[in-house]
Amino acid sequence: MSGWVDFAAVKRAVSLETVLRHYQVPGLRRRRNRLQGCCPIHRGEREDSFRVDLDKNVFRCFSCQAGGNVLAFVAAMERCSIRDAALRLQHWFSIGMPDRSWAPVSAQLVRKKEGGNPPLHFALTNVDYAHRYLAERGIDRATAVEFGVGFYARPGLMIGRIVIPIHNGRGEIVAYAGRALDDRAPKYKLPTGFHKSLELFNLHRALAAGNKTVIVVEGYFDCMRVHQAGFPGVVALMGASLSPRQESTLLERFDRVIVLLDGDAAGLAGSRSIAARLSGRCSLVTVELPDGTQPDQLSTTAIQELLKHRTSDSF
Ligand SMILES: [Zn+2]
Repeated sequence: MSGWVDFAAVKRAVSLETVLRHYQVPGLRRRRNRLQGCCPIHRGEREDSFRVDLDKNVFRCFSCQAGGNVLAFVAAMERCSIRDAALRLQHWFSIGMPDRSWAPVSAQLVRKKEGGNPPLHFALTNVDYAHRYLAERGIDRATAVEFGVGFYARPGLMIGRIVIPIHNGRGEIVAYAGRALDDRAPKYKLPTGFHKSLELFNLHRALAAGNKTVIVVEGYFDCMRVHQAGFPGVVALMGASLSPRQESTLLERFDRVIVLLDGDAAGLAGSRSIAARLSGRCSLVTVELPDGTQPDQLSTTAIQELLKHRTSDSF
């Protein structure tokens, strides 16, 4: 990394608390102006080894002896130099950029202003796009790379999960969903405070595809499989029900909606409710799958057979 760096400005602009949130360090307990928990640097299990003084903006780990200011923390997490840590922080939090120089980063402020999920100021790196879980779910490497979906092994909220970036309609990342590799709960982990009812997964790519027809599915993997089968105009509800915001987005952005939910009780109920609400307000097709099947379990050929006559804009 190269470039201009203002160490003092970085230290002034970014609090340790903001950076801990950036890394989604789990389980920190707060007592007055102090945080305490497991050390994310050496990934220890002692719950009292890592301590942060929020007033002084410094941290200390009593197990691995790491300690210092916000720059030292990022340098330890990234295993990089202090200078590279400062450059990363400048980049992540847009420090020194004209519109937000010196301003402390506040998700709350952004949220109030826009009435939606605030964009994240970071993207996870070191994501493994070639993890076998993706192959088992029928996701090609090219699709995984395009969606930014892969296994994440580093400390934080998403450790040991398949991370799935969720974008808003402008293509800004607003959250990551973390899929467990096995049957553990929660199946999908989402950050506290994220409102999935305000987003449609994959909306920015569906808009970029330029069709007035959109396919609506339930889940992230349904969406990726349908996209991979050659239908880029697809969004996922991240569930089986349509929120008021999702409904208005669909009606504003598309003329024709193809509903392709799972072939189970929840999917069927969801399809019928969506059909009742959208009926007469757009061109609408409901595809019912056989009981017990969902789009991501179908073969690519089966998805193509199901959708090819229904997705033409000239319909
Ligand atoms: Zn430590």
